[in-house]
Amino acid sequence: MSFYIIIRSNFSAAHRLKELMNDEEIHGHNYLVEVFIKEEKVDKKGYQFDFREVEKFLKSILPEHKFLNEFFDFAPTCENIAKYLFYKIKEKYPIVKIRLWENEKYACEYEEKNS
Ligand SMILES: [Zn+2]
Repeated sequence: MSFYIIIRSNFSAAHRLKELMNDEEIHGHNYLVEVFIKEEKVDKKGYQFDFREVEKFLKSILPEHKFLNEFFDFAPTCENIAKYLFYKIKEKYPIVKIRLWENEKYACEYEEKNS
């Protein structure tokens, strides 16, 4: 039996992928992040992690109002940001998957193999 909790959070940030996409101008996204965390020890009360604590932690690591090209030392593609956030969250919670939406239509997911 496995439980997963899912927490959504968001942040607004700007980036530019000029090296990857020719002549792309600086622009912003209202990112939506969805984090899937495995709960292996749901106690008698019926839970393991407090949604609010996970959300608070997420807020503390999300690059709110940053220019991502300067904030990260890698190209701030959806894929790279998702992978970065995955391992940041993994330091504290048993995350199994992250989904990062750049807008209503485009998202990417990252998960480790065999997790
Ligand atoms: Zn973009």
